[in-house]
Amino acid sequence: MDDRSWSARAHQYSMYGFTDLPSVERRGTVVLTHGEGPYVFDTEGRKWLDSNSGLWNMVAGFDHPGLIEAAKAQYDRFPGYHAFFGRMSDQTVMLSEKLVEVSPFERGKVFYTNSGSEANDTMVKMLWFMHRAEGKPERRKILTRWNAYHGVTAVSASMTGKPYNEVFGLPMDGFIHLTCPHYWREGNPGESEAEFVQRLARELETVIADEGADTIAGFFAEPVQGAGGVIPPVNGYFQAIAPILKRHDIPLIADEVITGFGRTGNTWGCQTYDFVPDAIISSKNLTAGFFPMGAVILGPALGDRLDAAIAPIEEFPHGFTASGHPVGCAIALKAIDVVMNEGLAENVVRGAPRLEAGLRQIMQRHENIGELRGVGYMWALEAVRNVETKEPFPGSLSISERIANTCTDMGLICRPLGQSIVLCPPFILTDAQMDEMLDKLDGALTKVFAEVR
Ligand SMILES: *Cc1c(COP(=O)(O)O)cnc(C)c1O
Repeated sequence: MDDRSWSARAHQYSMYGFTDLPSVERRGTVVLTHGEGPYVFDTEGRKWLDSNSGLWNMVAGFDHPGLIEAAKAQYDRFPGYHAFFGRMSDQTVMLSEKLVEVSPFERGKVFYTNSGSEANDTMVKMLWFMHRAEGKPERRKILTRWNAYHGVTAVSASMTGKPYNEVFGLPMDGFIHLTCPHYWREGNPGESEAEFVQRLARELETVIADEGADTIAGFFAEPVQGAGGVIPPVNGYFQAIAPILKRHDIPLIADEVITGFGRTGNTWGCQTYDFVPDAIISSKNLTAGFFPMGAVILGPALGDRLDAAIAPIEEFPHGFTASGHPVGCAIALKAIDVVMNEGLAENVVRGAPRLEAGLRQIMQRHENIGELRGVGYMWALEAVRNVETKEPFPGSLSISERIANTCTDMGLICRPLGQSIVLCPPFILTDAQMDEMLDKLDGALTKVFAEVR
């Protein structure tokens, strides 16, 4: 056994993803051992309230007994199988039935992956395959928005609208990013919300005209942009763009990896924003974070078109070894039951106004909060140097990292994203835990804003 600290051992042998390395050098690695409800604990015995549900996904907390029992029972029964060659587990069959039942579609088809990135990647391949089989092989371009997050595989990273992908030479050709529908940041001075929506609709029309509708395979959108900084769409956005896409036969895919299963106060984010997509991408909370799994849920039209495209070649040549893994499916079945039938979804509906009111009070107490935005149990507070001009703090101050680090020192994990602080708590949060979260955040903001003023 190595007698050095866990942090030193982590640092020597493990690579970090999406981690600011100077911060780790300074503060050490937090090595976690277990969780209880919404709390996590590390090797030093420290305890944090994780206001981000891990990475948006642990909606039932870190020790939900029903989910643990479902996993154990399935491991006892049948711990692994694939879904190739005309075979699949009974759990896979039942989960697909359940996903179509709870989807906004009256019928549909489900394909499983190990992650959200792979589900988006799979959806893109499905679209390429389908258009090609329909005699439109040049329909390959993918439309997304700036600030979108769709994952990290080469294709889903190309869909993601973040500048950091430049270091990989991404996006690949044919991935086109449109304006982020964030009125507070992207709206022009004097422009109303309705005018902003019209501008975004015109932009979409122009891009389709310039590129040629017959070169575009699909349009992907998160109902609320999550890792872009919790950005709900400007009012009327989806109502403006969905008909344009439909007119040009461009499928609209809802990436519901964060917004699915109750996060926004409805089962799906597309229900909260009142549009019907052609397919849904699910992951993260699909298994309440208890198993790595993603799913493509096709609505009736895309399901039929894909079936027709597959028929002549008699096989869809795609799939992952662990697609439709029986343990993942058993956990997902239980997670859907827990969220929808054991009060978790209701907790979000009941708790959201309380959470919003608490955050609004925090915003009023601090003059450096430019915007509070969110819905359900996903919120962001954006720090600004000047509320009137929306002038950001200088990047060198790392304002959101400072706030997040100060929260961490106070026993609260929250996420810095750009100059925003993101809160995305598990659905099991009690009122007392919500107050603890808000109090600690308030304390951290007081301390940090005093330091940088
Ligand atoms: C996290 C996320 C993904 C990627 O999921 P992974 O499981 O990390 O590959 C895709 N889309 C959205 C909206 C996400 O939040």
